[in-house]
Amino acid sequence: MSEFVVGVDLGGTNVKTALVSRERKLIAKDSRPTRADEGPDAVMDVMQAAIDDLLKVEGVSRDQVIAAGFGAPGPMDWQSGVVFSPPNLAGWKNVPLAETMASRTGLRCFVDNDANCACYGEYWMGAGQGTESMAVLTLGTGVGGGVVVFGKLLRGIDGTAAELGHLKVQRDGRRCGCGARGCLEAYASVSGMVRTAVEGLEKGEESSLTEACGGKIDCLTGKMIFEAAVDGDAYARWVFKETATWLGLGISSIISYQNPEKVVLCGGMIDAGDILFDPVREVARAMSFEVPAKRCQIVPAGLGTDAGVLGAAGCALERAQCDG
Ligand SMILES: [Zn+2]
Repeated sequence: MSEFVVGVDLGGTNVKTALVSRERKLIAKDSRPTRADEGPDAVMDVMQAAIDDLLKVEGVSRDQVIAAGFGAPGPMDWQSGVVFSPPNLAGWKNVPLAETMASRTGLRCFVDNDANCACYGEYWMGAGQGTESMAVLTLGTGVGGGVVVFGKLLRGIDGTAAELGHLKVQRDGRRCGCGARGCLEAYASVSGMVRTAVEGLEKGEESSLTEACGGKIDCLTGKMIFEAAVDGDAYARWVFKETATWLGLGISSIISYQNPEKVVLCGGMIDAGDILFDPVREVARAMSFEVPAKRCQIVPAGLGTDAGVLGAAGCALERAQCDG
């Protein structure tokens, strides 16, 4: 009887692979360099070898594996498993990833975008376990999003739903990487936080941050702001509070629209703990109706950087079961 599912997280730097039981137990995992600069065939060689090695080491045969799920950077067609042209994978153009990996591995293969996989991972095995309705915000260079409703990923007719980083929080606001203005991502990502800090410093705000970046404000990083805030620098703390306020505003829209049980925050920024979470919760609550605001817990992620690979496995299991 098929008892296992394989997850693969295809990142620009590393390929992570995991073997997970049907009962959501992580059996084994692997990480190896992607070899992205050698093109799609080399990357698929890496993934194939990682899966082969994992099954061999664990003594699992192919007929014991229900499916393999691949979390890949978008844009893509999740239904056919074709990856269009991800910016961080050179030479990838309309690669039929699901079909090619199925013939290479002899397994049923499913492809999903990596943000959705990370969301599903938190739902399946992380901070969202036990819920039926939740949202995930990943705070990094951008703001990634994912939504689960009725225990399933919200995908949308074109597979582009849950781009929560591009919820609009300000008319005529900052320009976002997507080309629009006023997106949540432009304020609540790590880059957005750095931009907030730089704007203030350029206007003459006093802070230990000026010293931390050696007087080169352009070299300021999220980590510097985090460290200064933890050390008690008043301006760095204000920057965190400001960033958290934008985030709370975005989350209040999610609460109004979805009435979720949880909103899970991921990414390095969550290490700031109460400095970030207290104002986020306060603003989200103040801006929402009372009942859904009370219902919604805003919590840190439970799986760290493993959310994507575990979620890829979980998505594949769910899709295999739906397909029968
Ligand atoms: Zn945007």
